[in-house]
Amino acid sequence: MSCDVVELATPGARGLKRYEPGKSIEALRQELDLDSIVKLASNENPLGPSPLALEAIGACLPEIARYPDGSGIKLKEALAEKHGVGFGEITLGNGSNEILELITRVFVTPSHEVIFSEHAFAVYPIVTQAVGAKAIITPAQALGHNLAAMEAAVTENTRLVFIANPNNPTGTWVEESALMAFIEALPHHVLIVVDEAYSEYVDVPHYASCIPWVQRYANLIVTRTFSKAYGLAGLRVGYGVSQVGVAELLNRVRQPFNVNSPALAAAQAALGDEAYIKRSVSLNHAGMEQLTEAFRRLGLHYTPSAANFVCVDFKRPARSIYEALLHEGVIVRPVENYGLENHLRITVGQEYENARFIAALEQVLGAMS
Ligand SMILES: *Cc1c(COP(=O)(O)O)cnc(C)c1O
Repeated sequence: MSCDVVELATPGARGLKRYEPGKSIEALRQELDLDSIVKLASNENPLGPSPLALEAIGACLPEIARYPDGSGIKLKEALAEKHGVGFGEITLGNGSNEILELITRVFVTPSHEVIFSEHAFAVYPIVTQAVGAKAIITPAQALGHNLAAMEAAVTENTRLVFIANPNNPTGTWVEESALMAFIEALPHHVLIVVDEAYSEYVDVPHYASCIPWVQRYANLIVTRTFSKAYGLAGLRVGYGVSQVGVAELLNRVRQPFNVNSPALAAAQAALGDEAYIKRSVSLNHAGMEQLTEAFRRLGLHYTPSAANFVCVDFKRPARSIYEALLHEGVIVRPVENYGLENHLRITVGQEYENARFIAALEQVLGAMS
């Protein structure tokens, strides 16, 4: 039989483009013979995991012959208490990306439209396309979400709107009052996902998490993750907060054991390690200062960011700068796939990592000018 079997795939799957992750340290080590590599490319916590999370993983390892708790009861109880929501309002996912995917699988068909912004998180087009729905991409405003344009794009076919707050890769955020007005104005046939993957880092005025709004808006789903400030990207744990009816649907569609037992144990431990989160957030603020101070000194334009990364506009195609930085042993993130070919996204690292990046950048830009 010939390879025409590929033609049997759904139109959604055939039209998909694969997600491009940041280059790994291992991959770069194989390409170039470098002994010290700094990776500031995937918005991971530069402190590594919480020691309490590591301990919890160790303690659960003897039990891994058994299936995990398929309802993640202990973690959900801890999350419910932390956010002041009901246990039944939480859906656990294999990373919050799984929650995003569950949402489109539960609510979106090929006859629907899904709205998200230009330069918004790359997983929104993937989960939209995967179910064969039509993506409506609204123009950005100063790289951030233009809520007026998003509201204007709503039609009777719209089923879902994605908003990342703050947004990746731009670090932009939408203010509380504007977001609430936007949600208020949505017709009842439209769900809204507010993706708060970087919420723990935010320290800007007029920002608020939407989790407390869930009890008011039946069409609101808020997503969070343990991959960023909580330092557990490799374990894959995230969650959604919504009203119970929506959570029940999401929980029916997911795999029965979608979050593994080390991940459940580590997430619960990390959630309780407030000192670690505090340290992570203050390290991020200092590192953001360190990076942006260098950008100002070098005359580089950057977009103010509320998250743990910052997008720099080099005013010319940035791919060659990215590649030259690789040769200096520094991995950052090209964002052409986000329609930002002149930009690079830099994750805030530890002080020595930021310093290493800044020195490499000066070297690279100096050699190019
Ligand atoms: C990193 C990120 C996530 C988290 O994905 P996980 O699947 O939880 O690792 C979600 N949304 C945005 C905008 C992100 O940048």
